[in-house]
Amino acid sequence: MLRQALIAGGGIGGLAAALAVSRAGWDVRLFERASAFSEVGAGIQLGPNVVKVLHGWGLADALQAVAAFPERLQVRSAISGQLLGELPLGAAMAQRYGAPYLSIHRADLHGVLLQAVQQQADVKLHLSRPLQSFSQTAQAVTVQADDGPGIEGDALIGADGIWSTVRQELLGDGLPRRTGHLAYRALVRQSDLPELLRSQQITAWLGPRMHVVQYPVRSGEFLNVVAVVHGEVAAEADLWDHSANAADLASATAGCCAALREVMDAIEGWRLWVLHDRAPMQGAHQHAVGRVALLGDAAHPMRPYLAQGAGMAIEDAAELGHALAQALDPALDVPTMLQRYALNRWQRNARVQARALRNGQVFHAGGVVRWGRDFAMKVLGERVLDMPWLYGGGGS
Ligand SMILES: Cc1cc2nc3c(=O)[nH]c(=O)nc-3n(C[C@H](O)[C@H](O)[C@H](O)COP(=O)(O)OP(=O)(O)OC[C@H]3O[C@@H](n4cnc5c(N)ncnc54)[C@H](O)[C@@H]3O)c2cc1C
Repeated sequence: MLRQALIAGGGIGGLAAALAVSRAGWDVRLFERASAFSEVGAGIQLGPNVVKVLHGWGLADALQAVAAFPERLQVRSAISGQLLGELPLGAAMAQRYGAPYLSIHRADLHGVLLQAVQQQADVKLHLSRPLQSFSQTAQAVTVQADDGPGIEGDALIGADGIWSTVRQELLGDGLPRRTGHLAYRALVRQSDLPELLRSQQITAWLGPRMHVVQYPVRSGEFLNVVAVVHGEVAAEADLWDHSANAADLASATAGCCAALREVMDAIEGWRLWVLHDRAPMQGAHQHAVGRVALLGDAAHPMRPYLAQGAGMAIEDAAELGHALAQALDPALDVPTMLQRYALNRWQRNARVQARALRNGQVFHAGGVVRWGRDFAMKVLGERVLDMPWLYGGGGS
C-alpha cells in the first residue's frame, strides 16, 4: 500500500523532500502558502556534498545548464585587498569529493527541483494553501491547510522555513533569534560592470565586523554580491528581503579597500535581509516527534557563513527519502522511520550550525584573532579552507 506524506512548504527544502520521498515510493501532497512557486532573486553556493545528492537524483544536466562552476575560492582582506588564502574548486574539488562546487541563482535551483517534482506522477502540489495546524494519533496525522476538512496522511514534513508553523506546534520553542547581522544582497549583470570587476571566481572579503562574498550565477552571466555587516533595523523588518538603503551599506563598509569599494559602488538595487538563526537542536527527539519531522530551515536555521543552509535541507531530504524507503518493511512503523531520519541528521545539522556561527566570528574578527586567522591561512593555505568532514558528505 502506498503511504502518503504531507509536506508543508515548497521552498528548496520542501521540493527536495517531495522529490526524495516520491522517489522512495510514497504519495506526496505538498502545501505551499504562496500563490506561486518562486524564490527570491539571489545566489546560493552548493558544496560537492550537496551537488552529489542532486546528481544522484538525475539533475546533473539541468544544473549544468544554469549554474556556474567557479575555479577557485579566494579569501582577501576587505581592508588591504591582500590575498589571504585560496582553495581550488573546479576539477580539484570534483576529483576529491565526486561532485563539483557550484554557484547558482536560487530561482534556477528551485526551478530545477520543481521541474523534477512535476515529473513524479505521485506528487500533488497545492498553492495558496498555508498549513494552519495539525494533529496526530497513533494511526495518522491530519493537517488543516484551509477552511475545508482536514487532510490525512501517514507523515507530515515541516519544510516551512525559519518561521515554521509546524515547528511552533511541534516544539513550541519560541521564535528564531536575531543575530545582530544584516545581509545586503545584489545581482548585477557582468556585462554591465567594467571589465576589471567581472569575475568567475568566488571571492570572500573579510573585515572587522563585516564581510562581502561575490560569485557568478546564471552560467556566469551575473555576479551575486552579499555584504554582511553588524547592525540592527526596526523590529517590523524581521521578515527577509526588503529594499535596502545603499547609504547605510556604504557607511558600514567605508573602510574597505578601493578594489572592493569599486565593486560595491558599481551595484544598484541592494536588498536587505535581517539575519536570524536558532541554537542547534539538543537531540533527534526534536527533529522528529511521532509522525511529524522537521526539515531545512524549519529544523536548523543557521547563519549563512558556511554557505550550507539550503545544502543541509537537501541532505535532509535525501536522508528522509532513505528512511521512508523502508516503508515496505512491516517491522518499521512511520514514527520509527522518522526517528531514524532524525538520528541520522541532527548531529550533522548541529555541527554545521555551530561551524557557521564560528565562521562569522572569525570572518568579522579584529585584533589578535584576525592576526591569527590571516597567519593560519598564509601558513596552512587550503588546509584551512577545505573541509573534508563537510564536503565529503554526511548522507547515507
Ligand atoms: C544571506 C543568505 C545567504 C545564503 N547563502 C546560502 C548558500 O550560499 N548556500 C546554502 O546552501 N544556503 C544559503 N543560505 C541559506 C538558505 O537560503 C536557506 O537555508 C534555505 O533557503 C532554506 O530552505 P527551506 O526550504 O528550508 O526554507 P524556505 O526557503 O524559507 O522555504 C519555506 C517555504 O515554506 C513556505 N511556507 C511558510 N510557512 C508556510 C505554511 N504555514 N504553510 C505552507 N507553506 C509555508 C514559504 O512560503 C516557503 O516557500 C543563505 C541564506 C541567507 C539569508
